[in-house]
This record gives sequence, C-alpha cells and structure tokens, in this order.
Amino acid sequence: MIGTVPEQEVYMGDVRGFLKVKRQTVKYRLVCQRLKDFREVSTLATCEHSQEQASRCMDCGTPFCHWGCPIGNYIPEWNDLVFRRSWQRAFKLLAATNNFPEITGRICSGLCEYSCVLGINDDPVTIRENELAIIEYAFKKGLVKPNPPQKRTGRKIAIVGSGPAGLSLADQLNKAGHLVVVFEKADKIGGILRYGIPDFKLEKWVLERRISLLKKEGIVFNTSVCVGKELKAEYLKEEFDAICLATGSGIPRDLNIEGRGLLGIHFAMDYLIQANKKVSGEKIPSDTLIDAKGKRVVVIGGGDTGADCVGVAHRQGAKCVVQIELLAKPPECRTPDYPWPKYPLLCKTTTSHEEGGIREWLVSTKKFSGENGWVKKLFCQRVTQEADDRKFEIEADLVILALGFLHPEHNGLVKDLGLELDSRGNVKTDGNYMTKVLGVFSAGDMHQGQSLVVWAISEGRKASHCIDKYLMGETYLPKM
Ligand SMILES: Cc1cc2nc3c(=O)[nH]c(=O)nc-3n(C[C@H](O)[C@H](O)[C@H](O)COP(=O)(O)OP(=O)(O)OC[C@H]3O[C@@H](n4cnc5c(N)ncnc54)[C@H](O)[C@@H]3O)c2cc1C
Ligand code: SF4
Repeated sequence: MIGTVPEQEVYMGDVRGFLKVKRQTVKYRLVCQRLKDFREVSTLATCEHSQEQASRCMDCGTPFCHWGCPIGNYIPEWNDLVFRRSWQRAFKLLAATNNFPEITGRICSGLCEYSCVLGINDDPVTIRENELAIIEYAFKKGLVKPNPPQKRTGRKIAIVGSGPAGLSLADQLNKAGHLVVVFEKADKIGGILRYGIPDFKLEKWVLERRISLLKKEGIVFNTSVCVGKELKAEYLKEEFDAICLATGSGIPRDLNIEGRGLLGIHFAMDYLIQANKKVSGEKIPSDTLIDAKGKRVVVIGGGDTGADCVGVAHRQGAKCVVQIELLAKPPECRTPDYPWPKYPLLCKTTTSHEEGGIREWLVSTKKFSGENGWVKKLFCQRVTQEADDRKFEIEADLVILALGFLHPEHNGLVKDLGLELDSRGNVKTDGNYMTKVLGVFSAGDMHQGQSLVVWAISEGRKASHCIDKYLMGETYLPKM
C-alpha cells in the first residue's frame, strides 16, 4: 500500500517503486461469466491499485513512453501525479493531449508500454490502465464538464465521418471557436468505435457519455447523411469555410476463390455491425441475420478484427470456432528485428482467445464448397516447405472474412471532389493534411490507411492544427 507523500516533494514517482512493486494488471471477469453477456470483460482498478502501479514509473531520465504514444501523452508526469494522489492535476495533464482517454484507456494497443524503459529488463508500467483510472476518477468526481469556447470565430467547418478521427477533429476545432458540423452516414455517431468494436471491449455508454459532452460544447451532429449521396460535396464546399474528410478505410479485402458466392460467407464488419446493433437492442430482420448460434464458425484472418469476431461468435453460442491465418505465428517475445523501444510484431492473445476456439497459422484457403447453396467446407493448404499434411479440410456453417481493409470508398465523395490517391488508394494530402482541393482536408484511416484508434486521434489533432492555421493564419491548437 502507498503511504502519504508530501505534495512539495518533486521527484518522479517512488524512485524505488519498481524494485518493490511488481506489475499487476486489473482483474478480468471469469470466462464462464463473461461469455454469458456482452459486458466489458475488464474491471476498473481501485485508486490504491493505480497509485501502487504508478509508483513503478522510475524517473528514467530520458523516457521513451511518450515517444511511443502517437499523441505524446505526458506519461511519466501523470504517473507521478497519480502516485502522489494528485488525481485532478493528472486529469488536466492527460486531457491536454488526449481527447478521449476513456476510449484509449480501454482499447488502445498500448504502444507506449513497449517503449517503457522499465520494459527493457522487467515488466513495463501499466500505462494504459493508469490512463483509464485517471479519466474514470475524473468522471466520477465530476471533473469532466462541458467547456464550450468563450468566443466564436464565425468560421464553419464540416467534418465528414464520426469515428475517432472525426471526433477528435471536431473537438479540437470547436475548442478553437469554430462552428463544427459533423456528417455521419450511419444512424449513430462513433464509426468503428460504435459498430466495429464489440461491447465486451468498449461498452457504448462510454461513447454516449463523451458525445453528450461534445454536443453540450456546441458541436452539431447530423446522422444518416451520406455525403456524396444524399448531400453533395459541392453543397459542403459552398456552405463551409473548410471541410475535413475522415470516412475511414471502408473497403474490405475479399477472398475471391471458388465458392465465394455461397451463403454463410460474410465480411467481418457486416457481422460485427449486426452484432453491435443487436446488443444495443435493435431488431435485425431474420432474413438478413448473421448468427453463430449452434454453428461451426471459421474466421479467416488472424488480426484484431478476427479476434473480435471470435469473441462475438462464442457469445452467440457457436458450436466451435476456428481462426486461421495465412502468415506464420509471430514470436511470443521480442526478436532482434524489433529491438526496444520499437513496437514489436508479437503473437497477441486477446481476451477473446482466452475464451476458447482454435488458432491455426500458415493456412491458405483454396476453395469453399457447400450444400443447397450454403457453405459447408473450406479446402485449405498448409503454407510450409514440409511434404506431409499440406492439404486439409475444415467443416463450417459460417465463415467470416477478417482480412483487413484496402482503402476508403472511392465512389461518391472522393470521385466527386476529384481527390488524388496515393499508391495504396488512400486519400493523398500535402504535409498540412490538405488534399489537392483548396480547403478540403483528410485525416484518419481514410488518409493513413487502416490503423489504430490512437493514430486516428493523432491524425485528427494534427489536421485540426493545420485547418485552424489555414482559416485564421495562426493557431494555438497543438501540433500533435
Ligand atoms: C473490428 C475492428 C476492431 C478494432 N479494434 C481496435 C482496437 O481494439 N484498438 C484500436 O486501437 N483500433 C482498433 N481498430 C482500428 C480502429 O477502429 C480504426 O483505426 C479507427 O476507428 C479509424 O478511425 P477513423 O475515424 O479514421 O474511421 P472510422 O472509425 O472507420 O470512422 C469513419 C466514419 O465515417 C463514416 N462515413 C463513411 N463514408 C461516409 C460518407 N460518405 N458520409 C458520411 N459519413 C461517412 C462511417 O460510417 C464511419 O462512421 C479496430 C478496427 C476494426 C475494424
Ligand atoms: S493513448 Fe495508447 S499509446 Fe498513448 S499513453 Fe494511452 S495507452 Fe499508451
């Protein structure tokens, strides 16, 4: 247990904390319990637990953790404040760089922890969990209040897309005093946070709580408006002083092999969108319902999206779940190719993997076959040099394709505005996030390609700096 430390003592955490305290992550709900519902699997840390874990941050002199964090969170500083129970100051410091710590605190990949100096020869500090503890403390104590700008500039900005990039853009530009209107084609705000990521990782009240604050601060949200379809891009150009496009990387990678047209083969996002809608109480018509109940499920794609599908399938009562991946199983710990403080490519065991199912690597799917139009089997091949066990079959009633995303939708908005694309098909901008069309910017996955929530927030923050500067000639919005 942490003792009382005088406020005036200025040192980073407990200088010997890492020698006394071992890394201890928060508790996860028991698998047998959490599989019965879609509630978050992780529990919240107590203040005492976070203070103790924050004491492990060791004043390493040249910290690399905020270099590892794409938004440059002041990690050693707020760890120190948590250790000293200055929760309010920790919250202020955290809010200075992160628009949505309650989201990154839950689902960030924790890039920072891989560059924690303590991680060189011990377990890194529980940075992500400490971040979550700070923001949830702040919400609980009523420290997070709507803070609308004192003065309005009279400039109007349209943001297209309400994922983490669009929301951080909106938050930053509203803070700068502009009138911000967000257009979203879905019926609810949040992008992948709402419709991709399942509740067992991020319950949607967390998102609602933040959106309610953004609304109170003056941001206008227009849902069920597909820009480029219901609303022409030209209209936005006439009505707004600047536009920022943040429509994500929506085109999924397909597997165009024999049998792809069989029923029961779906893209991951089609499956996850439905599952998320069902959890939020929406009714899905039975003729379009994708449900894993009683089925043999195969998820093709070994990444995070695939893992989310595995977790959903188990909760829906799948008979069995197999996740297959074309590439080799990544190493369990750092290799010389990924020396500290680089973010390493490691084999990730998510909470969904802890709940069951089989994972197979080096598997190439060659063909689907079916009965009465429905998929029944995958014909696979092991991608190895060995002669034996090269071909095998997997029986399946439901196949989910989680093979990643190619690029944003090119039809509609991108075509109408005549935007330039990069070699991967993402929207090309100059160094200031502006596309080749004056006053039209782009950020997030649409611009950088499929990525992570914290990178989308980072893009939103950087682009808002550039947009404010474009409109006002100067800006006090941070560069990152
Ligand atoms: C299933 C899944 C799970 C993931 N899990 C994690 C995770 O745990 N941690 C993590 O860090 N990252 C995760 N990611 C990645 C992360 O969610 C994305 O990198 C991030 O959401 C990208 O943000 P964005 O704002 O650029 O785009 P998106 O979140 O994709 O939002 C784009 C929005 O634009 C809207 N839109 C598109 N076209 C139009 C139009 N013409 N008019 C109006 N609106 C439009 C879309 O409806 C959508 O709401 C996951 C991704 C997926 C698919
Ligand atoms: S946002 Fe992600 S990378 Fe940054 S401090 Fe939080 S957990 Fe680490």
